[in-house]
Amino acid sequence: MVIVGSGFGGLFAAKALRGAKADVTLISGTTYHLFEPLLYQVASGILSEGEVAPPIREILKGRRDLDVRLGWVTDVDAKAKTVLVSSPDGRDRTVPYDSLIVAAGAQNSYFGNEHFAEHAPSLKNIDDALELRSRIFHAFEMADLEEDAEARRRWLTFVLIGAGPTGVEMAGQIAELAHRALRGQYRHADLSQAQIILIDAVDRVLPAFDPSLSAKARKQLTKMGVDVRLNTRVVDVDATGVEVKTAEGGERIEANTKIWAAGVAAPTLATRIAASTGVETDRAGRIRVGPDLTVPGYPEIFVVGDMAASDLPGVAQVAMQGGRYAAKTVKRRLAGKPEGKPFKYFDKGNMATISRFHAVADLGKLHFGGILGWLLWLVIHLFYLIGFKNKVTTLMHWTVSFLGRGRSERISTVQQINARTALNRLDR
Ligand SMILES: Cc1cc2nc3c(=O)[nH]c(=O)nc-3n(C[C@H](O)[C@H](O)[C@H](O)COP(=O)(O)OP(=O)(O)OC[C@H]3O[C@@H](n4cnc5c(N)ncnc54)[C@H](O)[C@@H]3O)c2cc1C
Repeated sequence: MVIVGSGFGGLFAAKALRGAKADVTLISGTTYHLFEPLLYQVASGILSEGEVAPPIREILKGRRDLDVRLGWVTDVDAKAKTVLVSSPDGRDRTVPYDSLIVAAGAQNSYFGNEHFAEHAPSLKNIDDALELRSRIFHAFEMADLEEDAEARRRWLTFVLIGAGPTGVEMAGQIAELAHRALRGQYRHADLSQAQIILIDAVDRVLPAFDPSLSAKARKQLTKMGVDVRLNTRVVDVDATGVEVKTAEGGERIEANTKIWAAGVAAPTLATRIAASTGVETDRAGRIRVGPDLTVPGYPEIFVVGDMAASDLPGVAQVAMQGGRYAAKTVKRRLAGKPEGKPFKYFDKGNMATISRFHAVADLGKLHFGGILGWLLWLVIHLFYLIGFKNKVTTLMHWTVSFLGRGRSERISTVQQINARTALNRLDR
């Protein structure tokens, strides 16, 4: 039994396989399980990376049936029933399987504008979060040093592209940093002058939420000083700004810090699986699985979570329930039981925070905003965060940041400050 990925789908599949009469190998490119919903808090200095990314070996310790292997699965040979793993020791290894659960998630998509990535990094993994954290805090430092008013304004202008949960949460956090948390710490730069601009091509923020919650979120963002620009398309991004287009015409916004939160696509592994099995993919490259989450014609290959194409949203619950379902199907087969019912997703709702004490929660017919939404968000995220130790330290950091004004995680190393640019320079 091989599982690919240590994210939500992979971890919950591995957990559900406990007690199965099987040798399980979990292969992941990262040594940790990343709790992506709190990644924005790493990027904004509230939490440390360790709090949202506990080691997968520690979570699954004590499982004698389970072997954790570090490496990237680069190919699947569906006929030979093997996966090819590229390992950090430089070797390629072939691992055979009887059943395979692929939960390799998604990656960011710049919709063909790959050159945007250099100037507008996205938020998908720990490296991204640390890079963004460095860029954001460094921007305040540069604004404090800068003597030219125009150049200082560029350092104090932050552009968020995409008004889904990540864009909204990051915009809220940067507004909190500029207008509350860092207030009074800079002698030369006036942080109250910071401009936080949230841009989306659609006509409301949080489009996956109920319209009443989108309206609430927008109102709160505006109250916090975020400039929300909807029906606006970003058509170019460079080092010092973005070009936008609306129905009325084009405009340039001068800003040194840009964050991309606009789209996802399947990882390259999906293309390899499609090539090996002939399975269809959707426009984002995700695999079209059958009702039992298997690849048509290959009942032993399951694809779950963000990498599977379906009508379901790309959220953690879909991956968790999909991983659990696939594991249970394998268990049934091993026990010689007939196949179970098709996968059915139980929607537990959607949540997004806007600022401290403000969140929106869309729980089917029940909609919550403001402090009630935020309290729900707090309890649910603490509940799902993996590991007792992480829950305790996260709660401590939240107390410091939400009741007080502290941001405990503001350190940036030289490498992080200059991010990709520094790495490129070192290469030369
Ligand atoms: C910033 C951000 C905020 C989010 N906020 C929310 C939220 O508030 N609520 C919510 O429900 N959802 C949220 N999501 C979405 C949610 O995190 C995803 O839907 C969920 O993580 C999908 O789970 P997954 O198992 O499919 O993939 P992931 O959790 O992304 O896991 C993929 C795993 O596969 C590994 N991997 C990838 N490729 C390979 C390979 N080739 N070989 C080996 N290993 C590989 C990765 O290292 C990783 O361990 C957010 C996502 C992001 C990026």
